Amino acid sequence: MTTEPIRDDLAAIPRYVPGKALPQALKLSSNEVPYGPLPGVADAIAAAAADVHRYPDMGVARLRDELAARLGVDAGRIATGTGSVALIGHLLQAVSSPGGEVVYSWRSFEAYPIAATVAGLRSVQVPNTPEHGHDVDAMIAAVGPNTRAVILCSPNNPTGPALTADEIDRVFDAVPESVLVVIDEAYREFVTDPSLPDGVERYGDRPNAVVFRTFSKAWGLAGLRIGYMVARPEVADAVRRCVIPFAVNGPGQAAALAALAAEDEMRRRVALVTSERKRVVEAARDVLPEVPQTQANFFWLPLGARAVEFASHCEKLGILVRPFAGDGVRVTIGLPEENDAVLEALRSFAA
Ligand SMILES: *Cc1c(COP(=O)(O)O)cnc(C)c1O
Repeated sequence: MTTEPIRDDLAAIPRYVPGKALPQALKLSSNEVPYGPLPGVADAIAAAAADVHRYPDMGVARLRDELAARLGVDAGRIATGTGSVALIGHLLQAVSSPGGEVVYSWRSFEAYPIAATVAGLRSVQVPNTPEHGHDVDAMIAAVGPNTRAVILCSPNNPTGPALTADEIDRVFDAVPESVLVVIDEAYREFVTDPSLPDGVERYGDRPNAVVFRTFSKAWGLAGLRIGYMVARPEVADAVRRCVIPFAVNGPGQAAALAALAAEDEMRRRVALVTSERKRVVEAARDVLPEVPQTQANFFWLPLGARAVEFASHCEKLGILVRPFAGDGVRVTIGLPEENDAVLEALRSFAA
């Protein structure tokens, strides 16, 4: 059967597997924060609803100005989009060229191979270290004349470790300025190790640095799809050209501003998550000592061939986690009683 005029390479794209959702089940499969929208957010959305017959501000001016002020950068260096997933795709489209390549660690965020292929770039996947972090030296060695970008996912989804300043410095020092160094910091707010770098602060002034952040995780707006990136003005402008007009909708812009105004409450909730993370990872290691360190709001169970089996075991107990067949299982940190249920599932699985 012919699929013309559809591009052949699309058939090879792995499908994005969303974390499962079943009513009643504990949903620990999508790295959401369990406390509902931040205070003020629902009211801001309700107020913005009165204007949904109008197109939103296409330039997303108020939100970009607010982010710029907080990050200490010019608003011209910020681009927004419908989730950072969409923006990563737009960035790769903006740098794509025939034969071009993008280097990233694997296992990492499942959106990368999809975004790369759609953008017409070849993925060069570099295996993680035995500790489930990025193998920075191997990544540097994988950069060649066709490389358009290197993606660093820090903390890494789905395994948890973040990159050190020394590791990221080495990447910047090794690659030419014509290669973008993309730092995906979707989980930056959950980083508690004070020695770990903030991508915007430490690398923001580099001409080839691009830092991605999102409102989906710590800020509790996954359902509204808002992400942003910081780069030099020319790169941010190129990405804005690729973004679909009016991508970030009015209620979303209002909600993001309301969420930023509730930053103290965001920090309080994140502290609850990270203190649970410490407790849960320690308890999980009693069963599975190989659980790697994590700086995000999830942890990784390197169960290998038993990954899918563990996810089914959890599902029978009413808990949804995210398996990666043959590799491991990613579990989101939830409420204390939810985390206890996962630990109990792990114990009964291992027994
Ligand atoms: C969740 C996540 C994102 C953000 O996704 P959105 O599209 O902003 O919801 C980006 N990168 C990584 C690694 C993620 O896990």
